[in-house]
Amino acid sequence: MHIDILTIFPEMFEGPFKHSILKRAQEKGLASIDLINIRDYAIDKHKRVDDYQYGGGSGMVMMIEPIARCIDHLKEKRAYDEIIYMSPDGILFNQKIANQLSAFKNILILCGHYKGIDERIRATYITREISIGDYVLSGGELGAAVVADAVIRLIPGVLNDETSALSDSFQDNLISSPVYTRPAEFRGMKVPDVLLSGNDKAIAQWRFDQSVERTRERRPGLLDEQ
Ligand code: SAH
Repeated sequence: MHIDILTIFPEMFEGPFKHSILKRAQEKGLASIDLINIRDYAIDKHKRVDDYQYGGGSGMVMMIEPIARCIDHLKEKRAYDEIIYMSPDGILFNQKIANQLSAFKNILILCGHYKGIDERIRATYITREISIGDYVLSGGELGAAVVADAVIRLIPGVLNDETSALSDSFQDNLISSPVYTRPAEFRGMKVPDVLLSGNDKAIAQWRFDQSVERTRERRPGLLDEQ
């Protein structure tokens, strides 16, 4: 899978994409990410990408020309399955959307700043708008990193243990069961006996029961979702 991320702050991604699973996915050739600086597509020599908003009011707006030129140029190279704009008024990101996106070949993620982007970009280029929560961030970069992380770890082969992602929370609309590692006893707190029993069937049943109980307790709404 290839992800193009359009941003005016490409440096913001250096941390998240250069470590751990995301780094490994790129090294294995399972995912590639290009950070594209919208400023490189500015139309004046000052590399300006924002301007005052029509109608007045505080806050700048990202201009249409640099973004349109940038997307037009990239579209000559790739056919995108989805052109995503990170936006607080988009659809709330969840595991289901991450699963859908992980099956795609090429996606583009546009990060806004300031008051947002000129509405005409949203109307003409964007195929999906994603929010990472009901709060306002100063830019789309952190959201794009969240989406890229959640999506890339679902690509087959990225996680070492292929079944590992399947037992994570939200797959099957259930919260993950609790997990333990050594020692079997710490300050009197014991690991549940069943996990030490070696009985795979009993362990699977215990984990399922725990998942259902936890979901009922913590996120009952998930059980009603399809
Ligand atoms: N004026 C806008 C907020 C702009 S915030 C409004 O009230 O809706 C600046 C940029 O940050 C946005 O263009 C968007 O790309 C990003 N952003 C802010 N909050 C976000 C969120 N919850 N999820 C995803 N992106 C967000």
